[in-house]
Amino acid sequence: MKKIFSFITAFSILAAGVLNGLAQTAPKNGADPEIQKMVREVSAKNIQATILKLVSFGTRNTLSSQTDPNRGIGAARDWIYGEFQKISSDCGGCLDVQKQTFTQEAIPPPRGRYPQAAVLTNVYAVLKGTTDPDRVYVVSGHYDSMCNLNATDTTCDAPGANDDGSGTAVSIELARVMSKQKFDATIIFMCVPGEEQGLTGSTYFAKDAAAKKMNIEAMFDNDIVGGVTTYKNAPDRQSIRVFAEGVPSNETPQEANTRRSVGGENDSPARQLGRYVVEMAKIYSPGFKANLMYRRDRYGRGGDHIPFLENGYAAVRFTEPHEDYTHQHQSVKLVDGKQYGDLPEFVDFGYVANAARVNLIGLVNLALAPAKPKGVTMLTGGLTNDTDLKWTANTDADLAGYEIVWRDTTAPFWTNSKFVGNVTTFKFKEMSKDNYFFGVRAVDKSGHKSPVVYPRPGR
Ligand SMILES: [Zn+2]
Repeated sequence: MKKIFSFITAFSILAAGVLNGLAQTAPKNGADPEIQKMVREVSAKNIQATILKLVSFGTRNTLSSQTDPNRGIGAARDWIYGEFQKISSDCGGCLDVQKQTFTQEAIPPPRGRYPQAAVLTNVYAVLKGTTDPDRVYVVSGHYDSMCNLNATDTTCDAPGANDDGSGTAVSIELARVMSKQKFDATIIFMCVPGEEQGLTGSTYFAKDAAAKKMNIEAMFDNDIVGGVTTYKNAPDRQSIRVFAEGVPSNETPQEANTRRSVGGENDSPARQLGRYVVEMAKIYSPGFKANLMYRRDRYGRGGDHIPFLENGYAAVRFTEPHEDYTHQHQSVKLVDGKQYGDLPEFVDFGYVANAARVNLIGLVNLALAPAKPKGVTMLTGGLTNDTDLKWTANTDADLAGYEIVWRDTTAPFWTNSKFVGNVTTFKFKEMSKDNYFFGVRAVDKSGHKSPVVYPRPGR
């Protein structure tokens, strides 16, 4: 059946092209050598140096010293700020390095992890987009740490090499590599505190961004991407989990009604973002796989992508496939000859570099590609087996056109695609929207593609 449909589709495109007097020129396909070059520039050595430096601050508990130059969260904050500044001076001041400082009010235990109010500082570097600077992508790791199940213990050693020195190192290494290039859209390389106290640093940033109506098209959270040396020979070591929710965290009751009526529990913006990362990683990272997880996070757990999701932004979480809980949220101690604690000797720096590469592949493709098409609508009303899609024209100068994708209702990934040219409507004759899921994405002249947008019903 599918063969017949694609023949019909090809015929309709040809017919539309002839009618419009336009040739439908598809953009280039395949890997972009500039992106491949950036992938190779990610350095495990740099990542190792960053993680060792972060560990050297003894503890990075959010409630630890703000002023001690050698130990505590304040020393880590200032060092990260200095690293971003160094990277910026290497690219002629191309990064706008920011400290976003705020006072978190007390939320005493047992409800919260702030016995008293605390000052928190998100540190980030902004690489401004050239043609579409208001479109923003965020990559983030948390630079705070904790030593045991008591997150308010500020004096114990909390090396936090994996959780989340690894994610912090990804943000810094990506800033270093990507700042040498120019992108259509803006990228924010971020390191936040307060994750272990209840996602407070990321919550502040996401709420503030939403209040300012910042257009964050995607957010990547890297938390525990250290790969652990203890599972080095595990079969799935050459992969990373990409957690992407199905039903949106910010869905309104009205949107839930629409979803029940037309489907879409497997097609949230976050799920499309997850599919996008998997698709791009397949092209640019054949030896190291992105594994899509149909979940917002690990079972009953949370991370810094959640405040972004709750504020209406597409976000995913990256985490290694096997976590070793003897080296996570543990005090540094030796028990019966067994070493506990989140120490750097249990981090696999080569693995972190691969995790960084998958992030880079996703971010670079997103920031070079056109924006996601807006106002994507599936026309309803009238009984027909045709599928009618329409959307609003993108404003990207390098736009080539749009690609329609579709799949069986039981397929996890988009299986079929058709480049339809620079149009804002498309009709699939005798191909029922009841039997397939459809989506639309924008494509530029070099072949960079936006994530897919799942249509809303409309007239
Ligand atoms: Zn963490």
